[in-house]
Amino acid sequence: EIACKVNAIVFDKTGTLTNGKPEVTDIIALGAFDDDDVLQIAASIEKASEHPLAEAIYHHAEEEEGITLIETTGFEAIPGHGVKALLQDKWYYFGNRRLVTDKLGLALERLEKKIERLETGGKTAMILATENEIVGVIAVADTVKETSRAAIDALHARGIETWMITGDNERTAQAIAAQVGITNVLAEVLPEDKAANIVRIQQSGKVVAMVGDGINDAPALAQADLGIAMGNGTDVAMEAGGIVIIKNDLRDVVEAIQISKATVSKIHQNLFFAL
Ligand code: ADP
Ligand code: MG
Repeated sequence: EIACKVNAIVFDKTGTLTNGKPEVTDIIALGAFDDDDVLQIAASIEKASEHPLAEAIYHHAEEEEGITLIETTGFEAIPGHGVKALLQDKWYYFGNRRLVTDKLGLALERLEKKIERLETGGKTAMILATENEIVGVIAVADTVKETSRAAIDALHARGIETWMITGDNERTAQAIAAQVGITNVLAEVLPEDKAANIVRIQQSGKVVAMVGDGINDAPALAQADLGIAMGNGTDVAMEAGGIVIIKNDLRDVVEAIQISKATVSKIHQNLFFAL
């Protein structure tokens, strides 16, 4: 009954609009470190992480480059920022710009231009740093699902507004949004702020659906008037969603709305005749 009233849909980026299988595309090494060092350190830290970005890094290191990982201790995930761990008696940090500038207080300087170029191409750049210097950058690219664009176009044709929400940086988010035809982009959103962004759209008078797959999407899925979870998503997301898209094809979001419209109009018809 709610699905047919939805007039704004918010999509998570990674794993929802995209395939969620990022692949390493670029490595930049600084100072005394070479590409393999940067990859080895980052992969060793990420081995303990469950983030989709983490798997891309250690899979590339181990399977494609044949690099042996180093033992780490003290692993910690910093939500919305990245990860840190102790490696051969030194703390290493790996994550986004916010991690390096806000948490470590390091300046990107000349690297900023290179990172911007990667981001404009729709890649997610992650920075590897110690407590006092930047060691390197690893960029990954995720591909947009083949059917995402068609789904967004179909929603627009039905007068439904679309949004993208992501913890990723503004530039990468804009590049991916452009590929699928979304113009309303909410980027660099911390996991705990996703639900608050849904509230803001609801307050503008919209009936809002949220489509997502991750643990950090669950509060937003619960907050939305309608939560739609991806079938290959996390259990928490599927628990929070009212509808689960089994085939992970976003055109089924349009289908769900159509089914709702047809069903509700049939219910009204039957009520009318019964009366
Ligand atoms: P989303 O689920 O939308 O990608 P997250 O809040 O999980 O958002 O992540 C936001 C950003 O934080 C990522 O784009 C990345 O730059 C950084 N980040 C988060 N987790 C990791 C990780 N394990 N390794 C490296 N970077 C990470
Ligand atoms: Mg996701």
